[in-house]
Amino acid sequence: MDYLQRTWCEIDLDALAENIRILKAIAGKELMAVVKADAYGHGDRGIALKLQQEGIRFFAVSNINEAMNLRHFGITGKILILGYTPPKLADLLIANQIIQTVHCLEYGKALDRAATQGKVMCHLKADTGMSRLGFVIEKGTSCIDEMMELMVCPNLEICGIFTHFSCSDSFQQEDVVFTNRQMERLDWAVSELEKRGVSLKTVHAQNSAGITNYENSRYTIARAGILMYGLRPSDDVKGSVPVIPLLSWKTVVTMVKTVPAGTDIGYGRTYRTPQPMKIATLAVGYADGYYRSLSSAADVLIHGKRCKVLGRVCMDQIMVDVSGVSEVAIGDVATLIGRDGDERITADELADIAGTINYEVVCSISRRVPRVYFQNGEKIEAIDYSVQ
Ligand SMILES: *Cc1c(COP(=O)(O)O)cnc(C)c1O
Repeated sequence: MDYLQRTWCEIDLDALAENIRILKAIAGKELMAVVKADAYGHGDRGIALKLQQEGIRFFAVSNINEAMNLRHFGITGKILILGYTPPKLADLLIANQIIQTVHCLEYGKALDRAATQGKVMCHLKADTGMSRLGFVIEKGTSCIDEMMELMVCPNLEICGIFTHFSCSDSFQQEDVVFTNRQMERLDWAVSELEKRGVSLKTVHAQNSAGITNYENSRYTIARAGILMYGLRPSDDVKGSVPVIPLLSWKTVVTMVKTVPAGTDIGYGRTYRTPQPMKIATLAVGYADGYYRSLSSAADVLIHGKRCKVLGRVCMDQIMVDVSGVSEVAIGDVATLIGRDGDERITADELADIAGTINYEVVCSISRRVPRVYFQNGEKIEAIDYSVQ
């Protein structure tokens, strides 16, 4: 239950439940919860168990290790692996009732050959424009024939088909046209399969931006990722989707000192104090996932006030300017992401400074940082990966 109070993330499970309700209402269909990459850095165990409590019966992950973890945590719903599983692990998929994405004929056949303990459940992946994984969907090609070839494989049970949007988060006219063409291509593939007597139970395409920006009643389920965690896929999200960020990231003050003008701060002496300043050292660094590119650029919150990061972010520590904050002491909490009083630092703010996206900011918070879960305002569990 207890955890090292050096740097940690607080995860608001009530916000997760609220976000699920909001997204279900907008999507108008069941949600497949995307909990890959340790639930976007939020901790897959805490997130998936809460989602299961909230009635989510379908989960998506990137690989078989993540899928097996969910089974070990007690997730009983469906689990879809979005990415690659070596065919020789076919029987492990079968034993754990994990659904595998099949993205081409060659891979599907290899999986079929490798399975000895029954049928591998599969969803076909259609490439309608992302050019990553999937049968390239185009009229006048063999794509439908190839899919049909897999339908008769004795050790495959193909129960779904899906595609992935590459620019559903953009309102640029040509991106909207492109996404509509992606939907048309998937619809065409589904109807061609139907003409040949194959009716797949599950059809899906929408990611978070697809849920808010596009409608398609033929899709039976929607894959919710970033919005479920209360973050936006981009600024182009239709309507005011009032999702709440789940994650706050905190650390503590470990030293406070006043230094004279002309003092060099940190590695490489990249910051020199222009006047006497009060400096606090904090227990977080790039090894915790606090990007080095935030050096002398980001703010943290202490006692509700913004404090600038001074000089380079070290592996395990940073220095900040607390000249404007009275009564700072060892052990005081500093907020890297989240709210303190009237001030707020978002994952988007750090992403902008670091030249990346909010997805990468939360996924980068390392496993050295304990995840602490709150429900009804109370701490219910702390997970510290670094303690064996
Ligand atoms: C990650 C992923 C999603 C979720 O995307 P968000 O933008 O986070 O909603 C959906 N589908 C696939 C195939 C993915 O890889």
